[in-house]
Amino acid sequence: MIREAIPGVDERYPGLFLPAPEIAVSQGLANDRTNSSEQMPGTGQPLNHRALKVAYVGMGPIALYNALQLKAGQPDTDIEMFEKRAEYARNHTVHIDDHCFRSLKSYDHPVLTQGMAQLRDKIRRQHGHISCKELETDLKSIAQRMGITLHAGSDYEVVAIGDGKVTFTSGEALFDALVCADGAHSKSRKALLKMADNPDYQGEDIAFSELSSTDEDSEFTSKKDLQYRVRVKYQVKGPTKKLTSGWLNLSRYVYATFKLMLSPVEERIRPLNEQTNEVTIDFFISKEEFDSLSGYNLGHAAKLSDSNVRDSLKEKIKNWQAIKQQFCQETLIADTEELTPHTLSIFHARKVHHVTPSGKLICIAGDAATSLPYYRSLNNFLLVGAKLGRKLASASRADLAKTGEAYEQYASRRARWEGFKATLKNFMINVMKLCLWISNKVFWKINVWDPLKLKDQRKTLPEWEVQRHHPTAMLTVG
Ligand SMILES: Cc1cc2nc3c(=O)[nH]c(=O)nc-3n(C[C@H](O)[C@H](O)[C@H](O)COP(=O)(O)OP(=O)(O)OC[C@H]3O[C@@H](n4cnc5c(N)ncnc54)[C@H](O)[C@@H]3O)c2cc1C
Repeated sequence: MIREAIPGVDERYPGLFLPAPEIAVSQGLANDRTNSSEQMPGTGQPLNHRALKVAYVGMGPIALYNALQLKAGQPDTDIEMFEKRAEYARNHTVHIDDHCFRSLKSYDHPVLTQGMAQLRDKIRRQHGHISCKELETDLKSIAQRMGITLHAGSDYEVVAIGDGKVTFTSGEALFDALVCADGAHSKSRKALLKMADNPDYQGEDIAFSELSSTDEDSEFTSKKDLQYRVRVKYQVKGPTKKLTSGWLNLSRYVYATFKLMLSPVEERIRPLNEQTNEVTIDFFISKEEFDSLSGYNLGHAAKLSDSNVRDSLKEKIKNWQAIKQQFCQETLIADTEELTPHTLSIFHARKVHHVTPSGKLICIAGDAATSLPYYRSLNNFLLVGAKLGRKLASASRADLAKTGEAYEQYASRRARWEGFKATLKNFMINVMKLCLWISNKVFWKINVWDPLKLKDQRKTLPEWEVQRHHPTAMLTVG
């Protein structure tokens, strides 16, 4: 645990690791506090026998944000977090609605208030965007300063959970409540269901190694793949710009290009070094195109020359590159394309809480509990997780079961509401895709790429030369 004092912080918190004064989050909490005459060593503060011991599986943004609220609401809570990776792995940019942070105004904890105000300002300045890794790093720093114990690295991979005990690679920890936010392919979710589904469960440890490594439909109340998408990354020599840059491009080229791709295209450009830029495009693809990328993922991307990649998909990508070459003066570097398929899915875990035979509470949170498409998962669980944090902060051991039930209801209600919004949005996207498809078929097409010119333009791409010498990898071109 890193122990450090923060300069300029409220003088009520001289060392920050001294037990903080009580923060009245709820009447129930205030009533719960002990009047014991025993004292915390070296602090002169009364020892709080009733404060909970709460453990976390995973240290992603959801687990951290939840732990911060719990600690701010009940500073005596003994919190330990276990993360299997020394470094947080996700490195994408997320968009966060400012209203997700509204719950913070109910706390009077100087470290939380100061740290979150800075983080919130940073996100506002970036128009709601922040890299997931940066978010996690900032939350971790606030957590450390609030006195939350963080364990990260392979020694702290959680390998089993049981009745009040969590086992990690190098030891064990006891808990009154356990919050599992170990990502979409959560082993904790499977372990919790194994406990909950077994009426004879006596509290024995559930080892993660004995659980299936694939996600079964039975783990969810509803699970659906709403859309199939591909992310294509490729490198270009020298400068480039987005196809959507400038109103002229937007009106002249973008609509015609989207018709060709049968989907809107999201584009990002990232400099790799002084001479090279990386272009990333994301767009919707058909189920057949998605299936032709089966077996490929972020760690193992497909190449454009792979023979199993469907010709229609190859053609879309080449068309895009040909248009970019002509109108954005992009110089493609041959054979640098990497294709990664992904689905936009929606699911909610069949159960997100369980009370063990000895009355300990286990909760599933974050992507492990609810996954939403269209960039809503984190936004949703910042709200749900904040509520769980507040509820745990005001809970005593005796009302952990009630806390769990309230959490289950709230998480399900939010998942239904967000699921409804995602379904509506998905409907609109399907309508838009249909419009692009129809406007591509009608005979009175205007604002459209000339297929012959496009074909000639494709021939000037560097891959065209490569493919001419490898006929098996040749595109089917229109
Ligand atoms: C490309 C992309 C863009 C996105 N954009 C948005 C957006 O704009 N807005 C939005 O709301 N959402 C967005 N999301 C979703 C968002 O990133 C996730 O909802 C969020 O990161 C989930 O956080 P989490 O803490 O639940 O899980 P994770 O971030 O997956 O963290 C889980 C942690 O648990 C650890 N762990 C797993 N198993 C164990 C174990 N046995 N022991 C110890 N540790 C373990 C993992 O190492 C990991 O660090 C996006 C997702 C992607 C992929």
